[in-house]
Amino acid sequence: MHKTTKNLAILGSTGSIGTQTLEVLENLDKPELFNVVSMSCGNNTELFIEQIKKFHPKKVCTGTFEGAKEIKSKFPNLEVLYGEDGLIEIADDKNLDIMLTGTSGCVGLKPTLRAIENGTDIALANKETLVMAGEIVMKAAKENGARILPVDSEHSAIMQSANGNFHLLNKIIITASGGPFLHSTKEEILNCKAEDALKHPRWKMGKKITIDSATLMNKGLEVIEAHHLFNMPYEKIEVIIHPESLVHSAVEFLDGSVVAQIGLPSMHIPIQYALTCPGREKGIKTESFNFIGKNLTFEKPDIEKFPCLKMAYEAGKIGGSAPVVLNAANEIAVYKFLRGEIGLGDIFKIVEKELEHHAIIKNPTLDEIFETDKEVRSRVSEKSIIK
Ligand code: MN
Repeated sequence: MHKTTKNLAILGSTGSIGTQTLEVLENLDKPELFNVVSMSCGNNTELFIEQIKKFHPKKVCTGTFEGAKEIKSKFPNLEVLYGEDGLIEIADDKNLDIMLTGTSGCVGLKPTLRAIENGTDIALANKETLVMAGEIVMKAAKENGARILPVDSEHSAIMQSANGNFHLLNKIIITASGGPFLHSTKEEILNCKAEDALKHPRWKMGKKITIDSATLMNKGLEVIEAHHLFNMPYEKIEVIIHPESLVHSAVEFLDGSVVAQIGLPSMHIPIQYALTCPGREKGIKTESFNFIGKNLTFEKPDIEKFPCLKMAYEAGKIGGSAPVVLNAANEIAVYKFLRGEIGLGDIFKIVEKELEHHAIIKNPTLDEIFETDKEVRSRVSEKSIIK
């Protein structure tokens, strides 16, 4: 094997980020740069089988026991694991150089921490990891010499723009497309249906994150992530609306110079950069960026219409278990909205109420984080709201 080959694990290989990661790997000019040693999926075993045939991992993990049985019957010589313990076993591999965490929800948190403890770099595509346990994760990364490499387009843009010089920054500027309701009235937003909210103008993503983009909660969660990733106080993190989604984010240096990362919206670039950084490799062909004829516009986010953004800043500043509450209450509320049980405006109300009633734990342990998460989820799930 090539001596510069990196052993890669992919958690969540059948999801949106996972499938695009495999596209990135397939299109690298130097395919020998990465060796996929392990992969996991949730319940899409059909696609997972195709991926296993193509990438020949040594170890795989499925979401369920049934899924694992099905995979084992197809690949008798493959090591097949399942559930959270299986994910932790995949992560607990001293031969791994980098693990891409592309699972959704908080299922990726423990395996990610386990990999960090082994000094494995993390290509992070999962929001919950830093929102719920940012302090624990970043501390473990520092202690074990593991890099946390963001896959999200905004954080990737900030990492590329700052180029390691975070101590020389005045502030970071996170761009937001503004979602489908950017210029809707407050009334229209409150009365919208799930199908309207699912029409994102720029990015094709999963349902949960698309609703989070419509409420700007997604941007709020990204602010909390940026705070942890780049060790930046909240006062130095600014959010601006940029509907064209061409400037993916920017940083302002002490001398006033602003550096931004620009490109057509594509997740392939941030995924590939997380895997190859600080280097760059020739890979998937993206259309060359043409400045001619492009209009770049920017505006201030309307906190009145999108209170979730403000709430995320507040929860972030309070810290401790507050972001855990914000995240859990929001997720359950979003699923209620998707099922037509509540309106979009109720998402904000539910999260606000949960934050109000929660007694903040200052430096929560991992167990306390999971406990808080579970508690909030079950409370919000049980409450019925009449529209
Ligand atoms: Mn993003």
